[in-house]
Amino acid sequence: MSHTILTLPGDGIGPEILASARTVLDTLGHFEYEEQALGGASIDLHGTALTDEVLDRCRASDAVLLAAVGGPKWDTTDPSKPRPEQGLLGLRKGLGLFANIRPVRPSPALLDASPLKRERIEGTDLIVVRELTGGIYFGDSGRDGDTAHDDCLYTVPEIERIAKVGFELARRKVTSVDKANVLETSRLWRETVTRVAEGEAKPLDHLLVDNAAMQLVSRPADFDVILTENLFGDILSDEAAMLTGSLGMLPSASLGDRSGPGLFEPVHGSAPDIAGTGAANPLAMLGSAALMLRHAFGLENEAGALESAIDSALEAGLRTADLGGSATTEQATKAVLEHL
Ligand code: NAD
Repeated sequence: MSHTILTLPGDGIGPEILASARTVLDTLGHFEYEEQALGGASIDLHGTALTDEVLDRCRASDAVLLAAVGGPKWDTTDPSKPRPEQGLLGLRKGLGLFANIRPVRPSPALLDASPLKRERIEGTDLIVVRELTGGIYFGDSGRDGDTAHDDCLYTVPEIERIAKVGFELARRKVTSVDKANVLETSRLWRETVTRVAEGEAKPLDHLLVDNAAMQLVSRPADFDVILTENLFGDILSDEAAMLTGSLGMLPSASLGDRSGPGLFEPVHGSAPDIAGTGAANPLAMLGSAALMLRHAFGLENEAGALESAIDSALEAGLRTADLGGSATTEQATKAVLEHL
């Protein structure tokens, strides 16, 4: 069966790293591609960061593969002007992507690139599962003179559906993170996740978010799935990201209720400072393509082969500029292909 991938190269280094992903994907299977503009590229063409037509084309695809958007050309503080990031938010909302997944598995060859000691991070292989469309980021907010408020609201169905994603992805256990000693939404979160866990084979434990932030740097290898709400997930996933040492290495997936496509993208931005120089590290983009193979198409063998090829290329010495080397995007792509 052929899968249709809607590609969104976006801006800056986006087109360069997306080209790398297509080259690699073409050696792993037969895929149909459709390319559309998002972010600054779409603002230039249509005056808006995401058109209704592109959103419809995304909905009709089997998976959306996005590189990155943004750049100084479109930076503005004028609220009436379109901004590239509006394209990302519109896409997440328009596709109903409520689960953000960030695997953190430092490549063995890069263990010494982490700010933490090798002994601490060795064996780390965790996934942060973050609720993406609820909580304090989407609650009522406002300001009245010297007073401001942001409301945090969660419903049982919202918690249930993200908890199920957490258990689906768990290999050993789920650690649910909340602030149940203080927040009512966290007590509802804990009750609901505990109830979902009763029907699951994997064990569940709970951590308060302040403790979780500490444990994440003191014993990261003990975690499997970290399941948490939007605000805590935003902070903990960036903290966990630093375990790998480089922004150019981190993939992500955002999933909805599976009736529509998921969105797969590197965590980093469009790196306008190096765009066009051929120096971009394509590995986070390739890692995102691997997540797409696994979560969108169920191609576990192909996903695993691509991830192993990335590790092997690094073991063999591949280093782009962000990793202290001089390999170009093209050389990095070739190195991964050689190990695939
Ligand atoms: P950035 O992630 O683009 O870059 C930060 C630093 O990391 C830069 O020095 C850059 O050269 C380097 N870097 C990032 N990715 C790299 C890669 N693959 N290979 C080598 N080096 C890499 O973040 P920024 O500079 O804060 O933002 C630049 C633009 O990207 C802004 O317009 C911002 O809004 C946008 N942005 C987009 C996304 C996204 O599309 N998801 C995410 C973050 C930022």
